[in-house]
Amino acid sequence: MEIKKFGVVGAGQMGNGIAQVAAMSGLDVVMNDISEQITQRALSNIAKFFDRGIEKGKLTQEQKKAALGHIKASTDIKDMANVDFVVEAVYEQEPLKFKIFQDLDRICRPGVILGTNTSSIPIGRIAAQTRRPDKVIGMHFMNPVPLMKLVEVIRGIATSEETFQITWQLSEKFGKTPAEANDFPGFIANRILMPMINEAIFALYHSVGSREAIDTVMRLGMNHPMGPLELADLIGLDTCLAIMETLYDGFKDSKYRPCPLLRKYVEAGWLGRKTKRGFYEY
Ligand code: NAD
Repeated sequence: MEIKKFGVVGAGQMGNGIAQVAAMSGLDVVMNDISEQITQRALSNIAKFFDRGIEKGKLTQEQKKAALGHIKASTDIKDMANVDFVVEAVYEQEPLKFKIFQDLDRICRPGVILGTNTSSIPIGRIAAQTRRPDKVIGMHFMNPVPLMKLVEVIRGIATSEETFQITWQLSEKFGKTPAEANDFPGFIANRILMPMINEAIFALYHSVGSREAIDTVMRLGMNHPMGPLELADLIGLDTCLAIMETLYDGFKDSKYRPCPLLRKYVEAGWLGRKTKRGFYEY
């Protein structure tokens, strides 16, 4: 099936980036979230990305107009009835994702692939919510989506070869470089990244160093473009906690226990950049 119309459920920081790259590759996009206020904010974030690119001479007004012209905002998941491929990017909460996949399975045509941008929830568990587990796959974009090259393509135990190939090709059409992963907690990216971030939070918790010192060591000492605490703020501390919980539940190994300080920040609503306060103030 040729993919012409692409759906995104969840228009938060990842969802609006995914909608943008899909639109920039020429697909018509239906971008869904729970309120018009959120979809409008998503459209305005996309517009701002183009404005910055235009200022720097990297993008043009025409590209901005074309991309925005391809995106239709939606607050009714039934609008996914005529898309050819859909990616879910709602909060990293299992019951919520389960509900979305049950709905998508009912609403989308039988041949349509249902991708999830989950950072860590097992693909097989999500697929089991549907009557098309062979058409469920992980399509894990990195943040910020328009700038980051990688898409981790994750096969669930029931994912068909055809679903895998179509998702791989779509990632390339979006200008990304896909990497293949199997369905284990955290896949590749977060299996490695998140314990490092969690350890940086432990270092702060144990007063090994200040937030600035920890980030400076990793930026200048390990040549990371961002320190782990800055990166945690960018990802969202709620998302970081959810991923650590999934690793911990999945492996039952104490090395994946989330740092109590991370939990405290999340409980306080200090979720990072998106709430203007995390390990840093914004
Ligand atoms: P976010 O909090 O920015 O956005 C989540 C969006 O989901 C919100 O806009 C929310 O309104 C929407 N939503 C909630 N319930 C919904 C529903 N019933 N229908 C439609 N939309 C609904 O979160 P995010 O950072 O964009 O993360 C989304 C997903 O992407 C998560 O699974 C996360 O683990 C994954 N992810 C995040 C990052 C990152 O760096 N933040 C990177 C890779 C993957």
